[in-house]
Amino acid sequence: MEPDFYKGILNCISDGVYFVDPNRRITFWNQGAERISGYSAGEMEGKSCADNLLRHIDDSGSQLCNGMCPLAQTLKDGKPSENDVFLHHKNGHRVPVTVRVSPMRDDKGAIIGAVEIFYETLQRQNLLCELSELRHKAICDHLTGLGNRLAAHEEFARRVYELQRYDIPFGLIFVDVDHFKSVNDTYGHETGDQALVVVSRTLVNSLRADDTVCRWGGEEFLAILPQVNETTFRAVAERMRRFVESSTVPVPDGEIKLTVSIGGAMAVPSDSIESLVARADAMMYQAKDSGRNCWALDCGTGGVICA
Ligand code: GH3
Ligand code: MG
Ligand code: MG
Repeated sequence: MEPDFYKGILNCISDGVYFVDPNRRITFWNQGAERISGYSAGEMEGKSCADNLLRHIDDSGSQLCNGMCPLAQTLKDGKPSENDVFLHHKNGHRVPVTVRVSPMRDDKGAIIGAVEIFYETLQRQNLLCELSELRHKAICDHLTGLGNRLAAHEEFARRVYELQRYDIPFGLIFVDVDHFKSVNDTYGHETGDQALVVVSRTLVNSLRADDTVCRWGGEEFLAILPQVNETTFRAVAERMRRFVESSTVPVPDGEIKLTVSIGGAMAVPSDSIESLVARADAMMYQAKDSGRNCWALDCGTGGVICA
């Protein structure tokens, strides 16, 4: 077989594979090694492992290249080794890898170099996945797929910072489904759940890309609307109301329609999420008192507007 054929095989392996001669000079660097480290074969071949590009460190952060280098050790004693280390990616971050070093010998048994195989340590990768999965679970409402109350708190914190620091206005809208208890009572809890999914999707689709809608709890939703003025605030509230009014929920004997009562308030720099939600909630109750399927907005100095 041609040497290129064997190189081809090595390049098919997803693990990093490289070879060093007795002086620890890298003479082969496969594509897996390029992928994991960010360094190309062109950058690595010809370099000495002692040039310290990969700068392996151990769990406690100690440099391995000066003294305890696994490659140097194997070249010296001919013993294979395995270590969990962190290599230095070309982009600067650390990558956890398991490193296996084996000596390579000639026909007479003399060491002519060493092969290092390394792969990203799965345990740590999984940990990262688990962390992002945990975060997803922590901020996501599992029924509707919207952000939950915690997500609303986080979005509020971002927006109130922008308001305090850059004077970028935002408004908050509180949405409560009208007579929702009777949906559960008439059609059962499962249909009630389905209805909440319909309302949540409808609300998302009635908003602009920068707006956020979260499930505050039960049949209550909260929308945070950056960059609104009185005119756009009214328009958004009316669009939400109309979108819900015109959507349907399938039930065994046909379909039902739902409506929502909406209250809104513009934020002021001294607001906490509680104070802002309280003003929007008071407006929502005003909408309920006005007969439901309508909205009331507290526009600060602009006064209260209803429809
Ligand atoms: P109003 O127009 O005054 O808001 O009347 P309402 O019936 O919507 O208000 P109420 O607060 O009396 O009832 C809300 C109901 O929402 C009661 C509760 O059982 C139901 N609910 C809360 N969370 C869920 C849920 O996750 N799934 C279902 N199916 N129902 C829920
Ligand atoms: Mg309610
Ligand atoms: Mg309700």
